Amino acid sequence: MSKHPAGGYLAAGGYLAAGGYLAAGGYHPAGQKELHSDWAIIAQDQLAEECRKTESLSQLEELRVRTLGKKGQLTALLRRLGDLPSEQRRDAGARLNHLKQSLEAILAARAEVLEEAAISRRLLAERVDVTLPGFQVRVGHRHPLCRTLEGIEDIFLSLGFDIVEGPEVEWDSNNFEALNMPAEHPARDMWDTYYITERMLLRTHTSPVQIRTMKTRKPPIRVIAPGITYRHEAIDATHMDIFYQVEGLVVDRGISFANLKGVLSLFVAEAFGPERITKFVPSYFPFTEPSAEMMVSCGLCGGEGCSGCGHSGWLEIMGCGQVHPQVLRNCGIDPEDFTGFAFGMGVERIAMLRFNIPEIRLFLENDSQFLKQFP
Ligand SMILES: [Zn+2]
Repeated sequence: MSKHPAGGYLAAGGYLAAGGYLAAGGYHPAGQKELHSDWAIIAQDQLAEECRKTESLSQLEELRVRTLGKKGQLTALLRRLGDLPSEQRRDAGARLNHLKQSLEAILAARAEVLEEAAISRRLLAERVDVTLPGFQVRVGHRHPLCRTLEGIEDIFLSLGFDIVEGPEVEWDSNNFEALNMPAEHPARDMWDTYYITERMLLRTHTSPVQIRTMKTRKPPIRVIAPGITYRHEAIDATHMDIFYQVEGLVVDRGISFANLKGVLSLFVAEAFGPERITKFVPSYFPFTEPSAEMMVSCGLCGGEGCSGCGHSGWLEIMGCGQVHPQVLRNCGIDPEDFTGFAFGMGVERIAMLRFNIPEIRLFLENDSQFLKQFP
């Protein structure tokens, strides 16, 4: 104790010496020296000094454990209280508890300082300079074909049509036979076909989805069938061997060619604008009778004639016609009772007309210089 007369240690603090319960008690001469050195170590001033030197909360915690922890120095002393004679125990206990509270307060005060310093350091490290220019994030957008297809779907949905889908690998029977083209029928030459087996092929149009629909639904039927189709075409500026189609089918009692013209004229007005005029030119398909090609006036020349429309003033946009009675019969629908019309258009062709794109292959090349022109 006398080693630290001015250090403010416990002994110097007065209460141990004055209390005399350990040093003066003399009842425990063997433990006396040991106890004295413990007192010295855990003295308030020394702890305060050590506290000041800690630079982090973990260092402070180490100090707390060493002093007040389960195996800490003060804890060890508290355990030894029981060794004291009962008349001294109470006083010593009170002093030790008082000391404990003082040490806890010192530790808590230092913890507060260290926490604030840690927060300040973190705020400084994480500081964001809001005046720096930002990085521009490149954002993708819908492919022009998707936008065109969705636009077509929206128009027919608003007219009360359902969207139906079917497999791209199809039976010959759905792709040709049920559509009034038995095997060896010369009309099959209109579709250069990728065969997988003798009876299975990559669908050449989405018409087989109409067959599947008529076989499973009872009229009235109002559907469109969008999807990918395949043809063994020589690839050029306007032909690909893979392309999107949207076909439509209406079957009900009393459906006439006038209904066909009305619905498709509404579609063109919505898709291309009400100023475009249309006409229907007789044509041939094995699965419709009568059949027609629908033409729309050229948007570039307004019908005057230009290179975009082959100087005709007209652009062909889809094939259509009244559903052939044999097709209805093939699907179990009585043509004496029900009639219908059907139509089909190439989505690429509609997109080319809509965006004035001269080359069909651009759609599949994934050239960002091309695609970013259609945000
Ligand atoms: Zn033109």
